[in-house]
Amino acid sequence: MNKNITQNQNYDLTVIGGGPAGMMTAISAASKGKDVALIEKNRRLGQKLLLTGKGRCNITNAENDIKKFAKEYGKNAHFLLPALYNFTPQDTLHFFMQCGINTKIERGNRVFPQSDKASDVLRGLVKMLNKQNVEILLNTKVVSIISKNNTIKKINTDKGDIISKNYVVATGGLSYPETGSTGDGYKWAEKLGHKLILPRPALVGVIVKEKWIKQLQGLSLKNVKITLHQPSDPDHLHPSSYKKLDEKFGEALFTNVGMSGPIILDMSKKIGGLLQYGPCKLVIDFKPALDFTQLDKRLLNDFQEFDKKMFKNSLNQLLPSKIIPLIIELSKINPEKRVNQITRNERSRLLHLLKEFELTVTKTEGFEKAIVTAGGIELTEIDSKTMKSKIIDNLYLAGEILDIDGPTGGYNLQMCWSTGSLAGKFRS
Ligand SMILES: Cc1cc2nc3c(=O)[nH]c(=O)nc-3n(C[C@H](O)[C@H](O)[C@H](O)COP(=O)(O)OP(=O)(O)OC[C@H]3O[C@@H](n4cnc5c(N)ncnc54)[C@H](O)[C@@H]3O)c2cc1C
Repeated sequence: MNKNITQNQNYDLTVIGGGPAGMMTAISAASKGKDVALIEKNRRLGQKLLLTGKGRCNITNAENDIKKFAKEYGKNAHFLLPALYNFTPQDTLHFFMQCGINTKIERGNRVFPQSDKASDVLRGLVKMLNKQNVEILLNTKVVSIISKNNTIKKINTDKGDIISKNYVVATGGLSYPETGSTGDGYKWAEKLGHKLILPRPALVGVIVKEKWIKQLQGLSLKNVKITLHQPSDPDHLHPSSYKKLDEKFGEALFTNVGMSGPIILDMSKKIGGLLQYGPCKLVIDFKPALDFTQLDKRLLNDFQEFDKKMFKNSLNQLLPSKIIPLIIELSKINPEKRVNQITRNERSRLLHLLKEFELTVTKTEGFEKAIVTAGGIELTEIDSKTMKSKIIDNLYLAGEILDIDGPTGGYNLQMCWSTGSLAGKFRS
């Protein structure tokens, strides 16, 4: 598989990037009888694919209503519809069955290989690439794309030039750059006349200002409500000047630098957008099922029932043990104080911490830790029915390089399978 390039091979299609989108494009085109080359700069295909789903690979989502499926991609859903109809999540399951991969459905319709191994998914794809006689060129880095009169004439690689009738750029985004996704395709596309929507890390944890967050590292929260607030006037960061922008219920996780987990990942794209104007706030409600009055009543009852208890021993029913010392510290209530001596003011401070626990977000964890890249090649310059560039005659784009990203749950890989499959169905 690791060969030097025979100069001036004349392929029907050359696919740049051996990730999920590039592999699917190559398989799709070769299965229609096209002569296809797949170029990957790493020494193996699908380096990032191996990391997906914590090594288990959440292949797709078993939501069968395509319109509902597409909505998950937000404002760019309409662009993706033709690709999703062309290659549906059901087609993905069928395709992987043909590759010898049985699948199973888990919480939230997430589809995984039965074996729980992303490496099996990759093995299945490579088997299919070989079956369709795709020429795989590993350890081969595309350096530049040469065009004339809106047509790509050849590509320069570090192993020689390649000439092809058509080209697909599927080089991914900027997230997890150590897997090979270093944004090379963005530069070529821009040079060829395409517009780039500023790439931003998405599905990523956040970093907060509060140093005491380290004490909470590893604590996962269930059934909490987290709201996202932005200062209406970035020069005056008084809490009263913050406006609420998003609100989510569910699970979250404290890290050594901030927060991650489902709620935070879901909000991270919005947070990334806000951070360009300054820090924003996350407000955690540890007891969303009770309003302020109900929770105050509950505290009063607890404090009356266990009136001999010291404050430091009174919160076990209310909070996970890991966070109790911090809440005690922040409440500024003497930990040794008997609960029946806690004043109304002190109880109000505690209530505030339980219902409005504030964190100041200063950064996201960046592309190094982001699951996907938001932004990418502007979609209005691409024909959604073919994935063909509207600017360059023999250029197609597929996968994360496009300005589309979805939530967790298999949506990002499905976008790659669908756009890749469609790009591979080119006619010429
Ligand atoms: C930790 C992690 C977990 C994830 N888990 C899931 C999940 O479970 N489910 C899900 O749906 N999504 C998941 N994702 C997202 C998913 O992996 C990506 O959306 C997907 O890999 C994008 O595929 P792609 O083919 O567009 O790009 P990539 O996977 O980035 O592949 C692009 C390829 O192009 C190659 N390349 C780049 N430049 C050049 C060049 N100049 N010459 C030659 N080759 C080049 C790169 O080496 C790379 O192999 C996860 C992402 C991460 C980081």
